[in-house]
Amino acid sequence: MSEKALSVKELSFRYQEDSPYVLNGVSFDVYKGEWLAIAGHNGSGKSTLAKILNGLLLPAHGEVSIQGKHLSEETIWDIRKEIGMVFQNPDNQFVGSTVQDDVAFGLENNGVSVEEMRQRIPEAIKLVNMEEFIEQEPHHLSGGQKQRVAIAGIIAAQPSIIVLDEATSMLDPSGRMEVLQTVRKLQEDKKITIISITHDLNEVAMADRVIVMNGGRVFAEGTPEEVFQLGPKLSDIGLDLPFAVKLSETLKNKGIAMSKIHLTNEDLVDELW
Ligand code: ADP
Repeated sequence: MSEKALSVKELSFRYQEDSPYVLNGVSFDVYKGEWLAIAGHNGSGKSTLAKILNGLLLPAHGEVSIQGKHLSEETIWDIRKEIGMVFQNPDNQFVGSTVQDDVAFGLENNGVSVEEMRQRIPEAIKLVNMEEFIEQEPHHLSGGQKQRVAIAGIIAAQPSIIVLDEATSMLDPSGRMEVLQTVRKLQEDKKITIISITHDLNEVAMADRVIVMNGGRVFAEGTPEEVFQLGPKLSDIGLDLPFAVKLSETLKNKGIAMSKIHLTNEDLVDELW
């Protein structure tokens, strides 16, 4: 088995001493170079988990290890360098007046040398296919392009893991596809470990593995195909099945042989168009 990039063991968290736990005994591993999707309806604990992985909240119980280091008050600053976060609203993530300046900003703050920046910035912008927009103002870009610039800014800081917290949920279908394809490129070309967090099951089809959260617990875990086979059980916990999966369920119920209708992950993602 390949090496672990991140390991979560029996993690529990509550916001106040006297309030109920919003994460309850959550355990999972993410392997180096893997794309793990974390899916769940609103309130299932996904954002709380993302904040813990990013070091914004410390777990009440349990253990989180990132690249072999245990997350604690002492290690939090080192660990934060390993993780790049991409958030929901691309407009809240810009600081620079051009795409190039924006990607440079995080590096300047981290004390990266000018020479090193000259190499990293164009490389990151190329990776997200935004070379032709390098001098443009980020605010004039489409939603998908803005998220790609935000991803370039993260990549330039060279984290080993990228967490996308509902990073496509404000985008139109083509923007969502642009971002998902960029994420796949990061995984394939840069071998970056990806954790994508979403309430939308259409988004998990391109991941290697999926964890489904419900009520602060891991409800299911498997490949996208395995998870989709749970069908109505996912609807019961407030998740809407992708149309292609619902259709294949209906056909199966009507006795049409499923062996003849094999849906690939790309077929499922095509629905986003
Ligand atoms: P999700 O991202 O899946 O929608 P969250 O992690 O945001 O789930 O929320 C999980 C639970 O934690 C919810 O019941 C929510 O009301 C509660 N919660 C989230 N943020 C806070 C907070 N800052 N203070 C108290 N409770 C919170």
